[in-house]
Amino acid sequence: MQGLIQDGDGEEQVRLSENLEHAAGLQPRQVRVQIMAAGVCGSDLSCVHGKYYMPTPLVPGHEAAGVVAEVGEAVTYCSVGDHVVLSTFGNCGHCPTCEAGDPGNCGFGGLRYTHSEGDQDLWGFANLGAFSQETIVHENQAVPIPKEVPLSSAALIGCGVMTGTGAVFNRAKVATGDTCVVIGAGGVGLNVIQAARLSGASQIIAVDRAVSKEKMAMEFGATDFILADGEDFDSVAAVVELSQGGVDHSFEVVGSAALLAGCLPMTKAGGNICAVGVPDLTATVTYPFQALHQNKNLLGIRAGGGKPRRDFRLIADMYLKGKLKLDELVSHTTGLDGLQEAFNALKAGTEVRTVLLPNG
Ligand SMILES: [Zn+2]
Ligand SMILES: [Zn+2]
Repeated sequence: MQGLIQDGDGEEQVRLSENLEHAAGLQPRQVRVQIMAAGVCGSDLSCVHGKYYMPTPLVPGHEAAGVVAEVGEAVTYCSVGDHVVLSTFGNCGHCPTCEAGDPGNCGFGGLRYTHSEGDQDLWGFANLGAFSQETIVHENQAVPIPKEVPLSSAALIGCGVMTGTGAVFNRAKVATGDTCVVIGAGGVGLNVIQAARLSGASQIIAVDRAVSKEKMAMEFGATDFILADGEDFDSVAAVVELSQGGVDHSFEVVGSAALLAGCLPMTKAGGNICAVGVPDLTATVTYPFQALHQNKNLLGIRAGGGKPRRDFRLIADMYLKGKLKLDELVSHTTGLDGLQEAFNALKAGTEVRTVLLPNG
């Protein structure tokens, strides 16, 4: 099969292979999935740049949807022909943490080989290796959704949509009338915005460096847009002024330690500072002690604190009921050979999401 392989750190280290195979045969609780759509997320760029400290060679890609092609003999979560969104949590499914309903906190999943090329085993990013035509995953990672959701839109549920909406619904728990600021109005930020709107937030301030982000931010539910124009722009002062003293919830979505530190003084006493974006995993965040002291909550958030088997279906249902936008997040679709172009668009901030269609 076709798939992308990352041989080392750097965009030039990614190549298209025609000779990918599954690393091993189907185990009893595993599912073979034909990948129909895989979004190119900021984390893919970080992974390729080595900021996730993933071992290589690796098959990148972690935000995907597809069709179940084969199930192991003990699989009960899905059937052949089901449309599934793939979860990035390679969780074990049976430890106390998993049983308590917190799959994102499971410490037993581990990273495994998903594919191989000749004699060389290949790691799979998020145990998926989604930039390939097929992958084999544990049934925990294949969540069925209604077939009415287009797969190119459904792919985004697996990471960008879950990460953004989950930060609001599962972690910050934004309440009716609350005020929010969202730093970064890209693929994940737009989902923070629309989830805050669905939660009844009274003010949703979007902050971005690109003026082109304003239109979509407002369409997704932002009430205000601040253009962070130039390196010297004081976003903290602008947000404090516009919100008349600070917001109840601040969401840092860019993945910048400096921007996260800046969220503390934008947030009111007792409010939540939400670390949604992922900087280099070894980054250090520094802030003045007093900026956090007044009963503020600094929330670490991995993939929206999601419970995929509950939340993916909930998101699909909200989409089908017309409450949540998905199709608008897909800027364009292309083949596996379009990854570099997608990275360029991500870096330039010119589009929300490129979705790769590995099977055409
Ligand atoms: Zn577990
Ligand atoms: Zn992602």
